[in-house]
Amino acid sequence: MTIFWFRRDLRLEDNAALYYALKNHQNVQPLFIFDIEILDKLSDKKDARVTFIYQEIERLHKELSVLGCNLWVKYGKPMEIFQELSKENHIEAVYTNHDYEPYAITRDKTLGVFFHSKNILFKTYKDQCIFEKDEVLKDDGKPYTVFTPYSRKWKAKLTEYHLKAYPTIKYFHNFRKSKTEKIFSLAEMGFEKSNIPFPENEFKKDVIIHYKAKRDFPDIKGTTRFSVHLRFGTISIRALAKTASELSEEYLNELIWRDFYMMIIWHFPHSVQNAFKPAYDHIKWRNNPEEFEAWCNGKTGYPIVDAGMRELNSTGFMHNRVRMIVASFLTKHLLIDWRWGEAYFAEKLLDFELSSNNGGWQWAASSGCDAAPYFRVFNPELQTQKFDPKLQYVRKWVPEFEDFTVYPKPIVDHKFARERVLKVYKEALTNP
Ligand code: FAD
Repeated sequence: MTIFWFRRDLRLEDNAALYYALKNHQNVQPLFIFDIEILDKLSDKKDARVTFIYQEIERLHKELSVLGCNLWVKYGKPMEIFQELSKENHIEAVYTNHDYEPYAITRDKTLGVFFHSKNILFKTYKDQCIFEKDEVLKDDGKPYTVFTPYSRKWKAKLTEYHLKAYPTIKYFHNFRKSKTEKIFSLAEMGFEKSNIPFPENEFKKDVIIHYKAKRDFPDIKGTTRFSVHLRFGTISIRALAKTASELSEEYLNELIWRDFYMMIIWHFPHSVQNAFKPAYDHIKWRNNPEEFEAWCNGKTGYPIVDAGMRELNSTGFMHNRVRMIVASFLTKHLLIDWRWGEAYFAEKLLDFELSSNNGGWQWAASSGCDAAPYFRVFNPELQTQKFDPKLQYVRKWVPEFEDFTVYPKPIVDHKFARERVLKVYKEALTNP
């Protein structure tokens, strides 16, 4: 048999590695592993991402059972699971899609060695982005570190071919037929079902058409909310990029940012732990734990910051404009290490993705590859006037903000904080 291993590509249609597995082999056995190396790190046993994945696995399990195929769902360490599976079955090949995060790269390398030792063919494909790794490089062969020229080259390289869907359905008859078995429950893995509602993945052409005009206002649904679906592959990037290329250049640019950050993390893995620009590792963060807690809980006394953090805490989502405001506030107003904020987002965001999260945080802290200049300190009040002029977003999440008896005073004065951060950054950058 041949195994197709689902990871962050939880769909049967337009799936690169699945297409090649089904086209080249008969008896293709699909597999998903709840990886304990990842699950054990999650402190919240009601983590909404686990519920989301579980729900999508149940859906795939049903879709496959209609095709007469039983999705194997396992729980454990991928290496141990493959060792066991290879003892019990004759595995000819394993097909899967690329993953660019450091943990996944190491895991796949180790598995590659194992498969090789067992004479099992290990085939991997690009699926979660349009251009990966070395596909968009500068003329001198080096990776881009600035977005605009990268995006120009990206667009110049784009052809119909890159947006074409993989017609997996043509080869569905090659799925291995077997009786459907029951999947273990969330509780059996030590998790509970989260009640956070998940954004739909229905195509929102209207949102994409009006994206340019509406994308910056957090009180309206002016963005697609597809990020969680892109994260877990319940929507195809090719389908989205195709629509974007027909309907909205601005929307396409956002999808290119996603490719850009994936490319950055692949070429510059040091930025996972450290500042992309090493001089920024010399910043003397204040890292005050009480102030960090006030930020996490949406109690800084800055309504737009508090609204964002409360939206995140109760929905697992935060609008991009507000992500920029709260990240700038944490790193610049409070002088708290961007890694603290990055880790908090990683715990809470439904769409958490190492590359975009790291990229967004390092952008806000000015330490990233193509970041905001260090002297750019968002003024929360001006940002509110511009992007939430009627205070609808703020009122939704911080209804008490005008009641001075209950709403906290600003945790720090804006002008004071601005001068302080400029001084601290200047010191770090001039006397490293
Ligand atoms: P839309 O505006 O509809 O955009 C469409 C898609 O483009 C998104 O779904 C996303 O996949 C991609 N995209 C949009 N903006 C960006 C961007 N700036 N960088 C990279 N990709 C982008 N995005 C994540 O997917 N995961 C994260 O963990 C994440 N962390 C972030 C942290 C910070 C501090 C900041 C400033 C941004 C972060 N972003 C992250 C990027 C962005 O905020 C979200 O992708 C976006 O808000 C998701 O909402 P949407 O699907 O409605 O986006």
